[in-house]
Amino acid sequence: MEFNVFQYFKGFERSRKDPMTPEEQGVSYFLGGHMGERISEHLDQYAAKAKVSRRDFLKTASGFAAAMLAVNKITGMKFFDVQEAEAYEAAAVKEMTVAKKMGTEFIVDQHTHICWRKDGYIQGVNTTEKGMWFVQLLDDLGKAMGLPNGTRDMTVENFGKLILEGSDTSVAIFNPFGFREDYGGKDMVPIEEQAEVKQRWPDRTIMLGGGLTPNQGLGETLDRLQMFVEDYKISGLKLYTFDSTPKRGWWFDDERMAYPIWEKCRKLGLKNIGCHKGIPFGQFMARYAHAEDFDAVADDFTDLNWIAFHSGWPYQGELAALKGFKPQRKNLFTELGSTFAATVTNRPVECAHILGTLLRDLGTDSVMWGTDSALWGNPQWQIDAFRRFRIPDQLIEGYGYPQLTDEVKAKVFGLNASRLWNLKVMANTEPAATPKVVAV
Ligand SMILES: [Zn+2]
Repeated sequence: MEFNVFQYFKGFERSRKDPMTPEEQGVSYFLGGHMGERISEHLDQYAAKAKVSRRDFLKTASGFAAAMLAVNKITGMKFFDVQEAEAYEAAAVKEMTVAKKMGTEFIVDQHTHICWRKDGYIQGVNTTEKGMWFVQLLDDLGKAMGLPNGTRDMTVENFGKLILEGSDTSVAIFNPFGFREDYGGKDMVPIEEQAEVKQRWPDRTIMLGGGLTPNQGLGETLDRLQMFVEDYKISGLKLYTFDSTPKRGWWFDDERMAYPIWEKCRKLGLKNIGCHKGIPFGQFMARYAHAEDFDAVADDFTDLNWIAFHSGWPYQGELAALKGFKPQRKNLFTELGSTFAATVTNRPVECAHILGTLLRDLGTDSVMWGTDSALWGNPQWQIDAFRRFRIPDQLIEGYGYPQLTDEVKAKVFGLNASRLWNLKVMANTEPAATPKVVAV
């Protein structure tokens, strides 16, 4: 993640001392946006109707349903599939939640992180000022999302507790952070520490390699890539085209600097290559967050899959055009990490346009679920919000977007990713049980 939520959510508290339920996490985020005050009035009314204190109400599934209902009412558009009774009747919300869960049981979170390393981040010692800015951003976000110690809580242990045990996530794909120039010559999250996630939950996680930029030397980059595959058995790559080197960035379609990396991926059997696209945050150059370099590589390496993380937001239209106008393409994918979370609560029209554009132009088989947790704490509120989210009819009619039907949601949540990552979804009809998956 990589988006300063505090600029958009003025009422969002930077730190909370008491533990939060996932519903409360979601509600507090709704309340922090520009509709916060009006949503708050609705919550008061529903809490009174439910005969519980406001404080307790916000922790419940009814409180979360009430916030979504309030957005429908305030905007006059139906963004969330939520019934009036859910906002004050625990039984109604439970029934609806179970109904919404059916069919979207298999959830692959394409975008997860740990964000702590054993020697920490100490400015002036092993972290530059720019590097610290990013740590601080994530620290604030974590604290606001119910992690009392911010980044210090984004550990391997909590990855398991929050994402694998604490949410409906079936499989988590974890993403690396590099930028070693800003972190004392060592990746922000070194692969040997990240690999502990894979060792602890081998059947429920997929590990991506990263922290590679040819600006650190092409030879060294190729050697590290080989080492990641041989020593750590990575399943794919998640890279950044902006970087912390003096050159500040590079492009995937650079035939001299980048094509040797893709040729090496081919040789090593890596097929899925992702890149942070969009969310041009903090110290990095926005130009490298554009997806234009996917155009050439998608054609020149048709046997590799190219995944735009964050959906290129706010440049999702550029990304979508790479397939919208070239429908023959079959190797372009995207995922929703941070983009969905950051827009669904206070910019629902924008959220609907992003999803609608991606689903219409990239296609319903190419959009994948991602939350960017544990940076956002427990991802459950995002999952619940997506289960309820729909594109208002006016936008469907006016833009030709496909609707987010349960079938489309099931694809986005897990079926598309299971094809891409060769996950075999074992038939499992028990709603409460964790679907078993095998990575091949
Ligand atoms: Zn991320």
